[in-house]
Amino acid sequence: MFDNLFFSSLNAFNFVSSITECDDGRIAGTDFAEHFELLPLKPLKRNQYFCFLTNECLGYLNPTPRSTAKLNYLYRCSVCKQYISPTRGTCFEKMRIDLLDFYKVVFLWCGHDKNKRVLENINLNKNTIVDYFQFCREVALDVLIDLGEIIGGEDRHVEIDESVLFKRKYRKGRLLANQSKQVWVVGGIERETGHCFVEIAPNRKMPTLDEIIQRKVQTGTTIFTDEWRGYNNLKNLGYIHYTVNHSKNFLNPHNKTIHTQTIERLWKGLKESSPKQTNGSKRSEYLIDYLFRRRFFHGKNPGERFNLMIEYIANQYRSELFNNANFEP
Ligand SMILES: [Zn+2]
Repeated sequence: MFDNLFFSSLNAFNFVSSITECDDGRIAGTDFAEHFELLPLKPLKRNQYFCFLTNECLGYLNPTPRSTAKLNYLYRCSVCKQYISPTRGTCFEKMRIDLLDFYKVVFLWCGHDKNKRVLENINLNKNTIVDYFQFCREVALDVLIDLGEIIGGEDRHVEIDESVLFKRKYRKGRLLANQSKQVWVVGGIERETGHCFVEIAPNRKMPTLDEIIQRKVQTGTTIFTDEWRGYNNLKNLGYIHYTVNHSKNFLNPHNKTIHTQTIERLWKGLKESSPKQTNGSKRSEYLIDYLFRRRFFHGKNPGERFNLMIEYIANQYRSELFNNANFEP
């Protein structure tokens, strides 16, 4: 049903009808959500989920209709009689919009499509798009952090940038674990391969940057950064270090060879994304989007990107019911 052929045929104009046409009288998009485990599978038989709402409760959670609930049903325990929403633990737990809107925004984020006709076709208000772009970005951030790649090496060129990220509402994972309102995002990309790293840091002082770069980038690498003084120690750590003043020009006036497409695209975007406040949250948004898209979306069509992103979301926001299932979900 939702196979590779399905995804590779998706585009901005057939998207909504394709996602919903498989539904059978239920809330549009539910089949898709269950198929990809964005929501727990609503079981056809009773007693498929064990209760985990009360310590050592021996009951089962069974679906019971509830017209006011998000998906028109809740699970109720056969013993302790408590209710639980099928959205608990999933990405829909705190969402105010419907499934279709959610898919549309994820699709839009994956396609990175600013085509006006596409936006009109998608028909969502701007705040919804901004909110759920942020959701996608936070999922992307955790995926990037989990990569665990060590990049660079002799004759390899790595660009590094850092910027502040203000936390928003969807924090799960890394951003939730960190207590402060704002965090620093430090990211690096290897020009030759597109391999990258992203780390969250409490600040952008020299010892912090030194520690991250030593852990993520092999010595001997040629590193390009902006002129932030926190990078001033890199030469002493065994790196070849060039700086670029990207608020003025993309070229290092002393070495024309560092003019490259990758650098230009990354730093041009950083500059455009935030012309006035060079270290605003927009910059880290751009940094995360850029690194993620370059690493994971390269060579994939919009449908394939969407498929991949849905799988990452389902992985990060897993229903607690699946951990207590009487069957193989
Ligand atoms: Zn119970």
